[in-house]
Amino acid sequence: MDSRKAVIGIEVHCQLTKLKTKLFCGCSSNYRGNEPNTNVCEVCLGQPGSLPKPNRRAVELAVMAGLALNSKISEKTSFYRKNYFYVDMSKNFQISMYEAGGISTICEGGYLDINVGPKPKRIRITRIQLEEDPARLVHIGPIDLSPYTLVDYNRAGMALLEVVTEPDMSSPREARLFLQKLRSIMEHIGAFDGSLEGAMRCDANISIEGGTRVEIKNISSFKEVEKALNFEISRQQSMMDKGERVVRETRHWDEIRKVTISLREKEEEHDYRYFPEPDIVPLSISGELVSRLRRGLPELPDARAERFIKDYGLPRYDAQVLTSDKTLADFFEESARIFGDPKTVSNWVMGDLLGQLNERGIGIGETGLQPRAFAEMLSMVKSGEISGKIGKIILPELVATGKGPRAIVQERGLSKIGDRDEIARVVDEVFKEQPKAVEDAMRDEKAAHFLVGQVMKKTRGKGDPQLVNEIVRDRLQRERQPNG
Ligand code: ADP
Ligand code: MG
Ligand code: ZN
Repeated sequence: MDSRKAVIGIEVHCQLTKLKTKLFCGCSSNYRGNEPNTNVCEVCLGQPGSLPKPNRRAVELAVMAGLALNSKISEKTSFYRKNYFYVDMSKNFQISMYEAGGISTICEGGYLDINVGPKPKRIRITRIQLEEDPARLVHIGPIDLSPYTLVDYNRAGMALLEVVTEPDMSSPREARLFLQKLRSIMEHIGAFDGSLEGAMRCDANISIEGGTRVEIKNISSFKEVEKALNFEISRQQSMMDKGERVVRETRHWDEIRKVTISLREKEEEHDYRYFPEPDIVPLSISGELVSRLRRGLPELPDARAERFIKDYGLPRYDAQVLTSDKTLADFFEESARIFGDPKTVSNWVMGDLLGQLNERGIGIGETGLQPRAFAEMLSMVKSGEISGKIGKIILPELVATGKGPRAIVQERGLSKIGDRDEIARVVDEVFKEQPKAVEDAMRDEKAAHFLVGQVMKKTRGKGDPQLVNEIVRDRLQRERQPNG
């Protein structure tokens, strides 16, 4: 790889899943898992004569998102028709927003700071707009090989908040961090649940400094964004190295084959023939509404991280990781409240728990683990009822099953062995097996540690360490006085 820089700008769509209904009709926004094409009405299907009515709460959430992203809130905004012909939008246009003739989208400008290194990096926001989600297209296998396309309109008309950035990101990692932070902010303002399949989708624009840009459409999660961009950087780089020209086009990220494939030449803005939606009056957003929403804004991830540092004494890095996922931050705080020692809770979450979650590729919300059970396990370690090692051993099962720690310890026979005779028997075994070590230990106190370690190993970490220590030392004492 040479030193030419990647230039990345993204357009993210967040479904406002916390709304009860779709953007312009009374259909439920809880469409997931329903029989295809049952969660529809004449408005979201776009039948002639039907009239869309904007969802007030959707407008409020868009303003709150704008405030959280330091944007300017437009006093006046309008819905526009974006015309195109495709099966995912049966009325042949999407109701969206647009900038024209002095009218802007609902929010303009703004920024979000991402934590890439010791210093945060500022990513500028171009604009934020509300628009309706198209229908979901279902393909059989890879999109370009599918013999047919199925259309499910249950999703059509869901409120989407689109956030467009300036091309300020210079690596796939920065793009992922941006999306992760945006997701956490949107979760904190109560706009959506980012763990729902397809609740956050993005189009990524990427060029190699000075080259033509390519748009990768509809990437389904921020984990996939990083992979898609890495692939696209290598593809563009190797084309440039061979002296070939990168063409301006729209590509699709194939999650299964891990490649981008060409879909079509990039459409131009004028192809869409934007014009004001005649069935919806322009929206006026009063200063009073904006102030009320600003006052009602909850604590956002950056402020929450600062509080974790100040109140709980956490390192900055840990505070940032914990607050980059609202559910994780909530889990941490609730566990800390129950257990009482935030630092210990954070260490366990940052280490073993996140390790488990990353291994499984899931968020804490997708496990059965409750703060109460987690705190109970930590209390058992603290009181010496189980060792820290046993805590680590049972954690995967706590995550996988959501069972209580006591039940797991009992089922798996992992209770600490506090029985003197049982430990003495294991000590006997070890002394028989390790005559050399016993000899050393009789002369050198420190060598006794090795014997203690061997006993702990044989009990698979279940021996009460204090008792093991005591019995080993007694035994050595007796060996030293053979007649005693
Ligand atoms: P389009 O006509 O493709 O919709 P926009 O101006 O709306 O163009 O920009 C779409 C996205 O492309 C924005 O997120 C922007 O940051 C990004 N973008 C613009 N120029 C570049 C570039 N040279 N390389 C990568 N991304 C870019
Ligand atoms: Mg655009
Ligand atoms: Zn409807």
